[in-house]
Amino acid sequence: MGTNDYGGSPVQPGFSTRIDTPEFRAAMGSSGKVFAITSVLTAVLLAPLLMLVVSFFSKVELADLIIPGIIVEAIALVYVIWSALKRSLGKTWDGEVVKKYVEEKYDSKNDTSEHIYITEMRTDEGKKHKHKEHLLHPVYDYFEVGDRVRYHPKLNFPFEKFDKTRDAYVPCPFCGQRQDVTHDTCQNCKMPLLK
Ligand SMILES: [Zn+2]
Repeated sequence: MGTNDYGGSPVQPGFSTRIDTPEFRAAMGSSGKVFAITSVLTAVLLAPLLMLVVSFFSKVELADLIIPGIIVEAIALVYVIWSALKRSLGKTWDGEVVKKYVEEKYDSKNDTSEHIYITEMRTDEGKKHKHKEHLLHPVYDYFEVGDRVRYHPKLNFPFEKFDKTRDAYVPCPFCGQRQDVTHDTCQNCKMPLLK
């Protein structure tokens, strides 16, 4: 075994207690700031960019796109505010993965079909939580039916598995990349892992 800067400690079953450490709190604070800045920038730039692209390809005058542009901008901003509220006011919950399945959505107009990967969880309070993923499906891949799960609303990859001892990897809670389960820090973004 070579040495690395990514720590290395045995994996034990149970939800991580690292989430309450100052190191983890600081990491959450800076990742929250990055999330806020990128989502506001995306929302603000989305409508002007769409207007330029549409007017370029459809020969519609830019001036005629102002009203649709304002509508797109408003929807984007509402979405940003909604996801920020969900992130900051959302509550941590514990639950269990109860079902996993793939739905196929057929688009007859384009003769294409899309797969939706659904990981269904039930909180200990009895609420159903359906997590839907499209092209990439890290949550679907990581969890098995019967796994205990904890939801952390402020994390980019918000689901933590109770028993990580049977796994070779743990998804980084900040960048989502798969990390060796023996590491303490993510090799990609250098943030602390939840273990
Ligand atoms: Zn990472």
